[in-house]
Amino acid sequence: MMRPAIHLAAVAALCLSLAPALHRDHAVAGSILLTADRLFDGRVLREGPVQVLVRDGKIETMALPGAHGTPRIDAPGAERIDLPGHTLLPGFIDAHTHLTYLWSDTTHAPNYLGDYLGSPIVVAFEAARNAEKTLRAGFTTVRQLGASDDVDLALAQAIDRGLTPGPRIVAAGAIYPPFPGRADIRWPPDGTAATRQEIVAKAREYLGKGYAWVKIYETSGTWDDTTGVPYYTRDELAGAVEAAAPRGWVAAHCMGLEGARRAVAAGVRSIEHGSRLDRAVVRDMARRGIFLVPTLYHLQWYADHGAALEYGPGYGDRLAALQKEQFDSVGRARAAGVKIACGSDAVYSMHGENAQEIIWLTKAGLTPVEALRSATAVNAELLDLEGEIGCLAPHAAADIIAVPGDPTRDINLVSRVAFVMKGGHVVRRP
Ligand SMILES: [Zn+2]
Repeated sequence: MMRPAIHLAAVAALCLSLAPALHRDHAVAGSILLTADRLFDGRVLREGPVQVLVRDGKIETMALPGAHGTPRIDAPGAERIDLPGHTLLPGFIDAHTHLTYLWSDTTHAPNYLGDYLGSPIVVAFEAARNAEKTLRAGFTTVRQLGASDDVDLALAQAIDRGLTPGPRIVAAGAIYPPFPGRADIRWPPDGTAATRQEIVAKAREYLGKGYAWVKIYETSGTWDDTTGVPYYTRDELAGAVEAAAPRGWVAAHCMGLEGARRAVAAGVRSIEHGSRLDRAVVRDMARRGIFLVPTLYHLQWYADHGAALEYGPGYGDRLAALQKEQFDSVGRARAAGVKIACGSDAVYSMHGENAQEIIWLTKAGLTPVEALRSATAVNAELLDLEGEIGCLAPHAAADIIAVPGDPTRDINLVSRVAFVMKGGHVVRRP
């Protein structure tokens, strides 16, 4: 397959300054006073009339019910937005997205890397549309785990500059090693390809470009190939973890048990998918503070869209079997006290359905409050942005959403986000 020779001219210039810190928000509006019936602060639900005053893109102060009722915020000149019946929440965070992944209607094949479009500029336009859908669904931050041609760095800058609406993007760049089907890489790594020097050099290269994460395929595996053969040794992965530290982290795609064992022993920060985790490995994950991003809903999405995606016979059964393994892994991880992060693995036309993952975490045994924490406070911790996003508190970014009702009683409300504010800007109103 031909690899596009051109790069976005802008990319080189844009790759300079994307640390894992929050991006600057453009042209922030004046103050806004939000009122609602209750508030989920990222950890707990606070019932009763609440007020939140937003100024200069941040939460300035909040009025929460106390023993003597709710104190009133006096904010002359502030725009008032009343959301009766609604619950305010921190903007959701999706820990696993692929904004650039497309489905080609012409070749009837997945487009992971921009191949069929021929130009990363066109991929960037497609990704911008996906980013807007994601934001309107209430996701004000995403961790991008795989994009070609540094499109996600460029998109993050474009969003940051106010050129196009989208979530804050914390990115991992292209997956290493890249997907199968590319002529310019060996797949799977044959043992000579995967040396410690090679993987360390790759981690340094990504961090040097401004990525905060390196996504490594530690095992083979998609829903269609669940063999989960491990690729890198513990020592090779540990080299990448060291090269990325202290300001970057490794996310490891692990579909088999042995790959997960190696990744956990190497000290990666998150295990993606994590099918077939046993008791010993989840115990180690809990002890070392390693996050699990189980990506449950996307398997159902594939099952629902299998005919359109032209999957071969038996795809439903294979997807259901993998789904069961991932549910079992989540059950063991939760029992062991592993931090479970909410990541949708949104691809193709799934962008904007990201909140389904919150619902599916509850199907796998998390309580609604735990699932909401997973998409807010836990993910903020994963991204090392605690106190800045994923919480409603003074000084945090004014990333605030609202749903019509109490999502701790009806978790399905997370897919009915009625109000979205990002960095003090109203993106969506009821
Ligand atoms: Zn993924």
